Parts: sequence; C-alpha cells; structure tokens
Amino acid sequence: MSDPLWFDPALCLIGGNWRPAASGGTLPLANPSDGSEICRIARGSAADIDAAVHAAGAALDGGWGQMSALERGRILTRIGQFVLERVELLAALEAMDVGKPLAQARADAVALARYCEFYGGAADKVTGETIPYLDGYTVYTLREPHGVTGHIVPWNYPMQIIGRSVGAALAMGNACVLKPAEEACLTALAFAHIAMEAGLPAGALNVVPGLGRDAGAALAGHPGVQHISFTGSVRTGALVQQAAGANVVPVTLELGGKSPQLVFDDADLDAALPFLVNAGIQNAGQTCSASSRILVQRAVYDDVKARMAAAYGALTVGPAVADLRLGPLISARQKQIVEGYLQQGADLPVAAQGSIVPQAPKTGAYVRPTLFADVPEDHVLAREEIFGPVQVLIPFDTEEDALRIANATDYGLVASVWTRDGARQMRLAKRLRAGQVFLNNYGAGGGVELPFGGVGKSGHGREKGFEALYGFSQLKTVAAHHG
Ligand code: NAD
Repeated sequence: MSDPLWFDPALCLIGGNWRPAASGGTLPLANPSDGSEICRIARGSAADIDAAVHAAGAALDGGWGQMSALERGRILTRIGQFVLERVELLAALEAMDVGKPLAQARADAVALARYCEFYGGAADKVTGETIPYLDGYTVYTLREPHGVTGHIVPWNYPMQIIGRSVGAALAMGNACVLKPAEEACLTALAFAHIAMEAGLPAGALNVVPGLGRDAGAALAGHPGVQHISFTGSVRTGALVQQAAGANVVPVTLELGGKSPQLVFDDADLDAALPFLVNAGIQNAGQTCSASSRILVQRAVYDDVKARMAAAYGALTVGPAVADLRLGPLISARQKQIVEGYLQQGADLPVAAQGSIVPQAPKTGAYVRPTLFADVPEDHVLAREEIFGPVQVLIPFDTEEDALRIANATDYGLVASVWTRDGARQMRLAKRLRAGQVFLNNYGAGGGVELPFGGVGKSGHGREKGFEALYGFSQLKTVAAHHG
C-alpha cells in the first residue's frame, strides 16, 4: 500500500495547535497485518492532558461556548461532509492501523460521517420543557453542556466510537479531550485535522495520544473534566469510574459483552444464518456487541450447526488490504489472549474453523475463526468475553431454558431472538437482560439513531441516537416567581 499518512502522526492537538508531547516522548504504532512499525505517535502524559483540559476550558469561555446550537450543528454537518469526501483516505489509515478489511474500514468511515450528520442535525433540536407548578410560578428546564468532556476510546472501532461520543458531546456544546488507544490512533488524528479544516474552533476538540495508564489515567482523574465517556475493558472501566468518582464526575461506560442469539425451532434459518455467523466474526470478533453465544433449540440444533460449520469452512483470514472476511487481530498480545481461550476449549468439539490464507505474513496477528459445538453453559468459553473470532453453540430445550442461559453472564449488552412466534418475541424482548434486543435480526445495521449501551458489567449510560444528547448535557430547572 502506498503511504496514506498525510499528516504528522507524532503530534498532539491542543488548543488548535499541533505539537509534540511535552516530554518529547513517542510510541511505536504497529501494523497488525505484518507486525511492521507504521510510524511513531506522541506519548502524551499528564502534562499534555492538563494543557488539553485547559485549552478545552478556554474554548468554552470563548467563541465555542458562545456559539449557537444552529452554528454548532452546521459545523458538525460540514465535518460529516468532509469525512464522506475522505472515506478512502480514512479507510486506508484504519486498515493499516487496526488491520480491518478495507470494506469494514470504509463502513466505519461512512458511519463516522453519519454520526456527524446526525448530531449536526440534532444540535438545535434538544429542548427543555415547561412544568405546570404552583400559582404565580413559571417553571422551565434548560439542557446545558457539562463543560469539558473526556473521551477514552479503544482500538476496535476508533472512528465509530469517536463519532458517537465526540459527535454528541460537541453537538451539546461541550469541549472535548480525546485520548485514543495507543494501538490505533491514526484516524483520531486524521479526524481532528478534518474537523479543524471544516471550521471547528480551536480547543473544542483536543487529541492527546498516549498510554492508558499514563495519559488515560490523567484524563479520567483530571479535576477540570466534567464528564467521562469510556469504551473498553471492564477492568479499565472500573478504574476510570473510580478516578472520575474522586471528582464526583459522571461516566458513561461501554464495556463489551457476551451477547447471545436465541434460535427457536420455528425460526427462518435461511434469514438467520448470515447474522449468526457475521455477528461473531465481524472485525475478527473484536466487537463489543459481537454475538459470541449461539443458543439453539434442540430440534434444529444439528441443522444450525451444519449450516454454520459450512459457513465457517469458507471463511478466510488475511491482511487488511486483501479485504477478506477477516483481518488480523489488533496485536500479538490480543492473539495470545484469544489463543489462550482456544486452548481452554481443547476439551470441546470444534464444529469448524476458517483458514488463514498462505500469503498472510507470519509476523501478523492472525487466528483461525473457530466454532465450538455442544458447549456447556457454565464453560469459560460460554461466560467470558474472548474478543476474537470464536463462537460457541449451546443447545436448549424450552423458552425458559433459553432465557436462563441467555441471562446467565455478568454482561448484558445485546441479545437477539429468532422466532416467528410474535408472543414469544414480546415476552423475550422484555425479559432478556440487555441494552438492545433484536427480533429476527442482529444489530439492525448498527444505526446511529439507536440508543446503545449495556446493563450489568456491560456498563451504564447510553450513547448513539438522540438519547446520547441527554447524557452529554445536564438539566437545569428554572423557577420564576412572578405572583
Ligand atoms: P482497555 O480497556 O485497557 O483500553 C481501552 C482504552 O482505555 C485505551 O484508550 C487505553 O489507553 C485506555 N486505558 C487503559 N488503561 C487506562 C487507565 N488506567 N485509565 C484510563 N484509561 C486507560 O482495553 P485493552 O487493554 O485495549 O483491551 C483489553 C480487553 O478489553 C480486550 O481483550 C477486550 O476484551 C476488551 N475491550 C473491549 C472493548 C469494547 O469495545 N468494549 C474495546 C477494546 C477492548
């Protein structure tokens, strides 16, 4: 691939200026398709986070803070248009940095544009209300920005997660400090360049790459930050919540899942099959809303197993630019984690595995997608988030069994039900423990319009859709006594 880097990746964006980390330090950024070093990025730390938080505060005290919702929306919409015009550039960066097949990387760039368009259009449509109250009073509510918002983003879907959190925060008039993941931050930097070019005022968006324990922890615990949005692991999410708690700052946590699809014996299996497989292997399984548990009613279990096994047999894994169904995992470390889980499944029947294409460099982080069959519901592979292309098939007998198994993990992000029985659809939609339930589909195309977030260890708070605008604002009640 010709070098798609059209900006200096070793800089932070602080108050509208691109500059090296205060320490002068840098970190290597690896290409997971072959393990090579792409470039070096800034190793931001507490000093840079502090400067970024102050720059964000200054933007709120200045033009950004005074700007009308209409004008903020126009800028966001323009950023969305600029992103759309640069989909290929962004996709090439993401493919190189995250190892995503180009088709997925393009889809992520288009989704980033769509978030900017959606939140651009919504910026001036968030209203308060009037509240009937005692005689002589007029009471109304105002929706106001938190102030400086911190955004700690993981490596699996940088563009989509930046779009949904930074897009909504800017729409509500917050000023953002973004800490991208150290494994993948090129599109965060590219997005910031595009946003500035589209007219976003200096300081409204600041970007500080760096290590999580260093720049991330400094952002989570900074007393000048008024809201934190975090997506990533449960362990780190708990640390972020603790750090923000010390400043009594609200957090939105999106921490992944172990999301089930429930397939009943009256389901349209032809319709279900592509969703059953794709929801497990998209982005090589490194998706918080991946469906890693497939629960199948016994009467159709063998049929579903055979169909999924055939689909798995045809899956190929290779470098991002080969644009196959799966690319590499993000890193050698993630490969090690996933291989550890595969070893823990050594006692289980393997229904099928995909293959790694011969031209995939040996230095890349490739694993074969693997479908396990007849997995006991309490097996580690049926309970823990693997974050790789691994799915387990679990048979069940009755609706109650299916519900019990589906709800039996610590997580609760997404669930899906495949059945033609309308009453069963309604019953399960209510009783499944998840932030999103899909009936006869999975993910509904990922619509930016649909509120998203979890229960239990999947986190709390909602991003995406109009709902996110409430999360990125706070309500003020005004009571006027006029007699
Ligand atoms: P992580 O949660 O440690 O990292 C996510 C983000 O948090 C990164 O930007 C990182 O720099 C930052 N971070 C790390 N430590 C921090 C700290 N102490 N304070 C503040 N920020 C900090 O995730 P990881 O190490 O990249 O991946 C580990 C596991 O997490 C994966 O195997 C997977 O199971 C899970 N994960 C989930 C998601 C998701 O979308 N839910 C995304 C990435 C990883």
